[in-house]
Amino acid sequence: MADCIFCSIASGEVNAKVVYDDADVVAFLDRNPVAPTHVIIVPRRHIDRLGAAGEADAELLGKLQLAAGKIAKILKVENAFRLVTNNGKGAGQSVDHLHYHLLAGRKLLWPPG
Ligand code: AMP
Ligand code: ZN
Repeated sequence: MADCIFCSIASGEVNAKVVYDDADVVAFLDRNPVAPTHVIIVPRRHIDRLGAAGEADAELLGKLQLAAGKIAKILKVENAFRLVTNNGKGAGQSVDHLHYHLLAGRKLLWPPG
């Protein structure tokens, strides 16, 4: 999608510190980390937000979660990490391309703020 920063990172047009990628998924370090490990995991294919995904996206959604588990292992945080998505501006979504935050490396409070 035009003018989407995460589409541009997924296509390689914009640089990011990529920690994992495969045919469907790209993951890179957040440029404004809120934890010692803060990775953004995106589908290569543009979907606005989780609530905009449909049945046709079921396999892709599964791949994103499986990728998160692999990335946690790669970064050696598999025993304690959080995977979260902000759906909509009211929930804190600032980039309208579905993404998961993988957070680790510090105490993660519950409930989150
Ligand atoms: P959200 O607020 O849930 O939409 O999360 C968007 C995240 O993407 C924020 O944590 C930003 O710091 C991060 N972000 C935005 N642009 C970039 C970029 N070009 N490279 C890396 N991270 C980015
Ligand atoms: Zn996009």
